[in-house]
Amino acid sequence: MAAAESAPSPLNSALAAVLGSVLEHARPKTSGAVATYIPELANEDPEQLGIALASVRGTVHQAGDSDAEFTIQSVSKPFVFALALEQSGLAAVTRHVGLEPSGEPFNAISLEEATGRPLNPMINAGAIVTTSLIRGDGADEKFAVIDAGLSAFAGRTLDVDEAVFASEADTGDRNRALGYLARAAGTLASTSEVATTAYFRQCAVTVTARDLAIMAATLAGGGVNPVTRERVVSEDVARWTTAVMTSSGMYDASGEWLVRVGLPAKSGVGGGIAALQPEEFGIGTFSPRLDGRGNSVRGVAMLEELSERHGLHMLEHRDAPLSPIGEISVGGAGADSEVAGDDVVAMLRGDLTFGNAEEVLTRLLPLLESERSITLDFGSVTRVGEPAARIFRWAAEALGETADGRARVELRDPDGVLGA
Ligand code: GLU
Repeated sequence: MAAAESAPSPLNSALAAVLGSVLEHARPKTSGAVATYIPELANEDPEQLGIALASVRGTVHQAGDSDAEFTIQSVSKPFVFALALEQSGLAAVTRHVGLEPSGEPFNAISLEEATGRPLNPMINAGAIVTTSLIRGDGADEKFAVIDAGLSAFAGRTLDVDEAVFASEADTGDRNRALGYLARAAGTLASTSEVATTAYFRQCAVTVTARDLAIMAATLAGGGVNPVTRERVVSEDVARWTTAVMTSSGMYDASGEWLVRVGLPAKSGVGGGIAALQPEEFGIGTFSPRLDGRGNSVRGVAMLEELSERHGLHMLEHRDAPLSPIGEISVGGAGADSEVAGDDVVAMLRGDLTFGNAEEVLTRLLPLLESERSITLDFGSVTRVGEPAARIFRWAAEALGETADGRARVELRDPDGVLGA
């Protein structure tokens, strides 16, 4: 088993040991089979097994065959969807492809009757339409844009496995047929040949588990690659993409995955899975044997185990957070001389979310009596989310002044955490 090479600190070793342990948990699971419908994929060594985790701060932890290359296949779909959204916006893209989970196999003939749109961009029909939307006239131009985008997500230049590309181009008539149907329905933005050629190249891009971890961490970090610090897509695009992975990323096992593992993810028939915990980290796994739905058996086993052991489900109940209200002083006690009479100063602390802002105002506003004012001191606050900042600004403006002309709610913000 390969040790983490990227950051040999004691903490990194601890994380690599955690990954190594879930990897060994999954190793005995040898059920499933390597994909063979793309003939070249049948040559993969089925024993390969790797996992990597990249934090949104840019540290990468690895175990097993985490630097082994394989073709990205359908794991490309959310990232190319993100590139299309970044290029054209949500309204334009969703005129061509829907956002509904399909519950059908990846290669289903799925076009909405009324609109001709594939149900979502994670099934082949939707992914081929998404690829057709990428700017560029021919397949080469479109693929150049896609390859540059996928490489920006990974933080290194990604190549194509020409043998896998040729193999899928030789045998990919079902995907071409999906392209023709979408073209006939008016939703494909190029010819079927252009869209599917670019799509087959996109699927044959080679990545490692480490690359998938960094790509997923880029979505987790709101669109900024944590290693290169490059902004690849906007925060909105990262959120929309993550939402579609949550509902539709694991083929027709997406609902069960969401309950059991609870991490937005996308799998591919090359044996890769990219998963993420928004705001925290991305994970890439690689093991080529697939279950009946096309998901990597050991990849699913590793992510299930990791999520369960370490409580990583995105909806995990978190214990009540630290109260956002620290010390409250009344009547100027302990406060500076600007505080009159029995006015109140509340020291706020921590990260202020919408829910924390609600608690601050619910607890403090009842203290407002006719001659009283409340100073909210943000000096110990680490971060104020915009939804919370809006509520505080509203309170300062809307609650007016005391009879002697002082603001009833004053925002003391020495470090400017409230923003504009
Ligand atoms: N290139 C593959 C296909 O279109 C990708 C399938 C997958 O990974 O789900 O059949």
